Amino acid sequence: MSGLYDDNFGSWHDCEDEDTIEFYRQVQNESVWKICAICNNKVKLRPQYNKCNSCMERMERGCEY
Ligand SMILES: [Zn+2]
Repeated sequence: MSGLYDDNFGSWHDCEDEDTIEFYRQVQNESVWKICAICNNKVKLRPQYNKCNSCMERMERGCEY
């Protein structure tokens, strides 16, 4: 299985690991279509999230927000 990706966490590592894959599926199941609070893109996020991974990464790098 090659790389996994979702809008909550971005790229997933350890994609060979069964627990990781299980968790990834769970995250996908919980996720619903939302509009990102920052970039206004339509993304699939868990109910408690309102920002997509690329915006979160930008925030973590301390740019512009
Ligand atoms: Zn965004």
